[in-house]
Amino acid sequence: MSTEANRYPERAYMVQHQIMSRGIHDEPLLNALRRVPRHQFVPPDQAPAAYQDRPLPIGLGQTISQPYMVALMTEALHLTGDENVLEVGTGSGYQAAILGELARQITTIERHAPLADRTQRLLQDLGYANVTVVTGDGTLGWPASAPYDAILVTAGAPHIPSALQAQLADGGRLVIPVGSSGFQNLVRLTRHGPRFDQEDLGGCVFVPLIGKQGWGEDERRGWW
Ligand code: SAM
Repeated sequence: MSTEANRYPERAYMVQHQIMSRGIHDEPLLNALRRVPRHQFVPPDQAPAAYQDRPLPIGLGQTISQPYMVALMTEALHLTGDENVLEVGTGSGYQAAILGELARQITTIERHAPLADRTQRLLQDLGYANVTVVTGDGTLGWPASAPYDAILVTAGAPHIPSALQAQLADGGRLVIPVGSSGFQNLVRLTRHGPRFDQEDLGGCVFVPLIGKQGWGEDERRGWW
């Protein structure tokens, strides 16, 4: 792929002006953001905007998160390269690819089968052999691959699902947006045996986490 088709200069600009300028300086994370071709994770009509400072529509009323939010959430997981990670809310697969660059094994779960299928093919084509896409209700986690050193939820939850807490390894980190439909706080839970320490990482706005331990299908109607 040529440099131009790869759009590396736009990614380098994005990293400098949207990520580093807001205080994120973790070098492996910055390099992952420079490497992953975000324009390939959005529909063709959105590709020109792929490196702009905002979320973009990816179909089925869902979005690919703003690059800064991807960076902030990933940094909060404190990955060192050897982790078993669960992502809830696969969407476009962009966040999963970033995680795939920075950890050993990623399981990512999406409730919409068409999105999951499309993303699985894309991640395979791009060579992310350590990322597995599954379809289901991620509020219940994915017990088959638990326990997880890190869990990242990329949709807004009304409360922290107990199933996700139960699947966190000792010392593991869970990062999740929690709050109302219009506004959430990004929360990090760190497990110390039976104890969970909670930190507030700031405000954010995500599409709803819908499932048994999330919002109900009916409750989501006010969101759109
Ligand atoms: N991480 C994604 C990316 O990089 O493009 C962005 C995710 S988008 C903001 C949130 C995703 O969560 C949507 O694709 C939505 O369908 C999914 N979702 C919502 N509730 C879910 C659930 N209970 N289980 C799995 N996925 C869910």
